[in-house]
Amino acid sequence: MFHYKDGRLFCEKVDLEDIAEGAGTPCYVYSTQSILDAWRAYDDAFGDLPHLVCYAVKANSSLAVLAMLARAGSGFDIVSGGELFRVLKAGGDPARIVFSGVGKTPAEIELALRSGIRNFNCESEGELSVIDSMAGRLGVTARYSLRVNPDVDAVTHPYISTGLRDHKFGIDIGVAREVYARARSLRNVQASGVSCHIGSQILDYSPILEAAGKVLGLIETLQADGLPVDHVDLGGGLGIAYEAADQAPGISDFITDLRDRIGRARLTVMIEPGRSIVGPAGVLLTRVLYRKKSPAKEFIIVDAAMNDLIRPALYKAHHEIMPLRQREGDSLIADIVGPVCETGDFLARDREIADVKPGDLLAVCSAGAYGFVQASNYNSRPRGAEVLVEGVAWRLIRARETYEDLINGETV
Ligand SMILES: *Cc1c(COP(=O)(O)O)cnc(C)c1O
Repeated sequence: MFHYKDGRLFCEKVDLEDIAEGAGTPCYVYSTQSILDAWRAYDDAFGDLPHLVCYAVKANSSLAVLAMLARAGSGFDIVSGGELFRVLKAGGDPARIVFSGVGKTPAEIELALRSGIRNFNCESEGELSVIDSMAGRLGVTARYSLRVNPDVDAVTHPYISTGLRDHKFGIDIGVAREVYARARSLRNVQASGVSCHIGSQILDYSPILEAAGKVLGLIETLQADGLPVDHVDLGGGLGIAYEAADQAPGISDFITDLRDRIGRARLTVMIEPGRSIVGPAGVLLTRVLYRKKSPAKEFIIVDAAMNDLIRPALYKAHHEIMPLRQREGDSLIADIVGPVCETGDFLARDREIADVKPGDLLAVCSAGAYGFVQASNYNSRPRGAEVLVEGVAWRLIRARETYEDLINGETV
């Protein structure tokens, strides 16, 4: 959805320079079509297999993004009460919400039960007993899956790998059967499925298929034990091409392979993609402030920083950076850095880039997922604006923060 036309970078049919001028920088821009195409690629590839695509809200929780997915019929995977609040505000259907996360508080569990969410992806026995007693108090029955840890290596960055035995997530698949059996004595919870999520930014999805195989084996055992388990939730994790040279796995290839594995099991299949839906759909626009040369390096100092996009600093992540006006000829190797007082504050290091000048605009690509949601006010920098493009139109979906916003709720 992002392409050059007559030497200018467009999102759908909008010149990104118009957005930068109108909304200012730094500014996140998302393509409606890109988000909906990716969501539909998942939904369509399941065909007539009973399924629910639960968009992982933590990847990008803008109300406008949630609202467009809700209208498309999406379910939602949430990890906090705040995300539940957002999904409901955006018009999401509670009956399509699943609640994941290793540390749900009693207050969050109560809110979820009162809202009538579909399912808890439960990560410990302690949590299950809190859900049970809260459900008892409210006079409802809570449906749950155990999030099992299948001990499969997702082969991704260690911070976003979650399916190994020594990770904090889930319950070891080897003890899950006993936990389900013990939970039968809890009167207000009902086992409904098994879930897993082995990690994120997975470029070779065979570990997800391997995990699916293990989880299906467990489900057969549980059904033989007489538990009413009718769905499998395989989490999210499909990777995207951050580098031009990367080959991202195809969404429909992945789902087709998954169907081949589990299509005969007569289960509802749930999936929780985040990054692969919104990641490629967003860019972060930033303006060049200064150029600077040290004996060892050239620096391009821009007005977006690690507080706007922390992925390079946190995961050494690569994001392609494109000038809004295509340039022929000279390029240089430079660090592209922000104004924050940290050496870790960079968007790219030793990157070949066009010979841009102060005032020029850049787009940091594939920033739609884990971008704005991880933004902070570090260095008392107001968080930037967010814009949604649809066809020839664009609109502000989140205003740039003001200095007043920075001190909201504070007292001297
Ligand atoms: C983060 C997360 C997801 C989404 O992962 P992506 O890599 O963004 O697709 C799905 N499920 C759970 C439980 C998660 O924690």
